[in-house]
Formats: sequence, structure tokens, C-alpha cells
Amino acid sequence: MAKKHILVVPGDGIGQEVTLVGKKVLDKIAARFGHEFTYDEALIGHVAIEATGNPLPDASLEKMRKSDAVLFGAVGHPKYDNDPSAKVRPEQGLLKMRKELGLYANLRPIKLFDELLGASSIKPEILKGADILFFRELTGDIYFGEKGRKNDGNTAFDVAEYSRFEVERIGRKAFEAARTRRKKLCSVDKANVLETSRLWREEIQKLAVEYPDVEVEYQFVDSTAMMLIKDPRRFDVVVTANLFGDILTDEASQIAGSMGMLASASIGDGTGVYEPIHGSAHDITGKGIANPLASVLSAALLLDISFGMKEESELVISAVDKVLKAGYRTVDIADKTTPKENILGTEAMGEAVLKFL
Ligand code: NAD
Repeated sequence: MAKKHILVVPGDGIGQEVTLVGKKVLDKIAARFGHEFTYDEALIGHVAIEATGNPLPDASLEKMRKSDAVLFGAVGHPKYDNDPSAKVRPEQGLLKMRKELGLYANLRPIKLFDELLGASSIKPEILKGADILFFRELTGDIYFGEKGRKNDGNTAFDVAEYSRFEVERIGRKAFEAARTRRKKLCSVDKANVLETSRLWREEIQKLAVEYPDVEVEYQFVDSTAMMLIKDPRRFDVVVTANLFGDILTDEASQIAGSMGMLASASIGDGTGVYEPIHGSAHDITGKGIANPLASVLSAALLLDISFGMKEESELVISAVDKVLKAGYRTVDIADKTTPKENILGTEAMGEAVLKFL
């Protein structure tokens, strides 16, 4: 029996709808295993701007620091998407949260449930059995280096930078994870062209000596982009820099068919944040049809990574599997063969998961 304090941060749009389901799943797990989970809520994104003028109020940050884990929804509002000049924006809350909590590694498991093989745009025979865990570096690279304009504003630059320390700390996490899986690590870079990539490779090579049981391969980002579609089963753990990871993880999300099915974890040395990979989905907000399974799977990641509750986590994943095997779908993962009565809304899908738990 463990006592844990979880901060629920639904954010904007469908974040409000799906996070509710993720929290119910955590509650059910606590009851089943005799854990004591306590909860608090905090504001971020557009809802925080409306209430306080700040996309991440200090009070929210303080609560995040004090909690054992954060279950996060999404941020975003159409008002800002169409106004690139807006000075205060929901995404600033997200970036500040990552920076302030020192969340330097973003983990994205890409695993396809057998029942959804047909939902992907890739052929089922290429896809079946694919199971990849991405580690994307989150606080360095071209996103955070010096940026600006010169030549009277006619030339722009963004500087990419990595320190050995930054590569080593995420590399170590990726090696550790590979040890608990199929013991294969693919480090993705562009070392034939980029100096940051050469330093990246040097550090991974140094770490490899400490993990002789893990088979390491080094691959250029362009050929990785191709191999992900051609033969996704060849990958186990993939570790890469911020920019490459941003692009490759979105590409890989298509392996799983729907945005509504994928969870992610952002971790550092303190509180971890667990969230669906999708955004606030304005187009379906308030309709009660959002797929809550990415939030449910985020709760499973939270149990595993922040609380070390492997059995509890696997139970959640198997409940999702059973719901899908029983034929239930939300509209985004339904197809022509899905009987109408099996197409569930957000709340009903949540209830179905709870039933199988
Ligand atoms: P999105 O992920 O919100 O939606 C993309 C498409 O996928 C939409 O058609 C949506 O209806 C569908 N979709 C997403 N999640 C779904 C779910 N759970 N169930 C069913 N369908 C789902 O991306 P977008 O439309 O590009 O962005 C909308 C807003 O979200 C923007 O303001 C953007 O800035 C923000 N955003 C936030 C995050 C985040 O908080 N981490 C990530 C991406 C986008």
C-alpha cells in the first residue's frame, strides 16, 4: 500500500473531458490495490489566462512541485491559433512547466493494439508486433539556442546547442529503459553533418561501454524516418535530440492509427508529467466524443514510471485491450464494420474501461 499525491491539470478543450476519465482509472486502481491516492487540481493554458492573465500561474507551479506526479490534459484555444501576434499564449504555460520542472526527457511508447491494426495507414503485416519507446530530449537543441535576425531582418538564425551533460542524462535513461525491454537501443542523429550530433554520438558511445548487455545502433535521422514506415518492428528504444524527436514521434504516432490512443511522459529528476499526445481538439470540444484512452494510457504510464507500480500499470493497459477486443470504439477509431451501438462517447468509454478493471 502506497500513499501518493497526484495533481490533475486538465487544461483546455477536450483536456477537460479526457483527464476526468484518466483520474477515475487512477481512483479505481487505488481502491483495487489498497493505495491511498490524494488529488488536487491546477490551472494551465487558456483557462489559466482567463482566470489570472498568466498561462502558468505560480500557484499551479507550486502545486506541481509538491505533487508526486501530474496527470495533464492539453492546452490551446482557437483564439490564439489565428493570432500569431498574441503576446500571452497557452503554449507558454506548457514550455514554462517543462523548463521549471526540469523535464528533459519525453517518452512516447508507440504500441499498436491488435484490434486497431486496420486503423493505421500502414499495412497490418508490416505493423503487427511493432512496439517502440521513444526518448526525445526536451530542453536543448535549436528550440532553446540563440535566435534572431540580421541583415536588416532579412536573414534569420536559430542556434542548435547540446552539452555533454544534457546528452548523458537522457542517454542513461534510454539505456536503463532498454534493459527492461528487448535490450536494443537506436541513437538517432545527423553526425555526418552536424557538430551537435557528433557530440551526441560520442556521449552515447561512452555510455554503451557501461551497458554491454544493450545492443546499440547509430542511425541518421533521414534513414530513420524511412525505416519507421518500412520496418517499424526493427526498433525497440529510440533516443534522439529535441528537433529530430519532435518530427519522428509525430510520424511514429501514425503507426498507432489515432492521436486519441497515444500517451506520453515528460520526466526529469523531480515530478513527472503524463499526458495524451493530442492537443485540445477544438473541433470536437464539448461534444462528448473525444477518445479518453490516451489519458487512460497516460495514467498507466504514470503508475509505472513515477510510482514504480508495474502490475497496476499493466492492468490498466490490459483493460484497454479488453475494451477494444469487446468491440467498443470511440468515433475516431471506429470503422465501417463497427456496429452503431458499440460506438461510445467519452464518458461511456471511460465506464467500459472501469468495468474491465
Ligand atoms: P489536436 O491534437 O488537438 O487535434 C488534431 C485532430 O485529431 C483533430 O481533428 C481532433 O479532433 C483529433 N483528435 C485529437 N485528439 C483526439 C481524441 N482524444 N479523440 C478523438 N479525436 C481526437 O491538434 P490541433 O487541432 O492541431 O490543435 C488544436 C489545439 O491544441 C491548438 O491550439 C494546439 O496549439 C493545441 N495543441 C496542444 C498540445 C498540448 O497541449 N500538448 C499538443 C498539440 C496541439
